[in-house]
Amino acid sequence: MMRPNETPINATCPECRGPLAQSAEGPEFRCLVGHVYTLEGMLHAHYETQERTLWSAVLVLEETRPMVDALSPHLSEEQRERLRLQVELKREQARAIREILNALEPFRLNPG
Ligand SMILES: [Zn+2]
Repeated sequence: MMRPNETPINATCPECRGPLAQSAEGPEFRCLVGHVYTLEGMLHAHYETQERTLWSAVLVLEETRPMVDALSPHLSEEQRERLRLQVELKREQARAIREILNALEPFRLNPG
């Protein structure tokens, strides 16, 4: 529950994805169910959420092939060919996200 000294922000809790509020007293963030973050903790948790979410995207794109393989016996030749091209596209998209993951870095508050 939001407290009187808190202001909602347009971001979600890294842990539960619930709405976040910022404390008026200092750099502290609290979500609807009570997860609390310091400034550094929020940056770290937010980075981890970015990484986890992108890996989840890679997984769902890459599992297209085994999923389509499993469906294949129930499809016509024409449908199989159409899906084969779509599987290739999703594999390319997964590869693009893997490149983003390779370049993804944690937030740094200080140089170095
Ligand atoms: Zn939360």
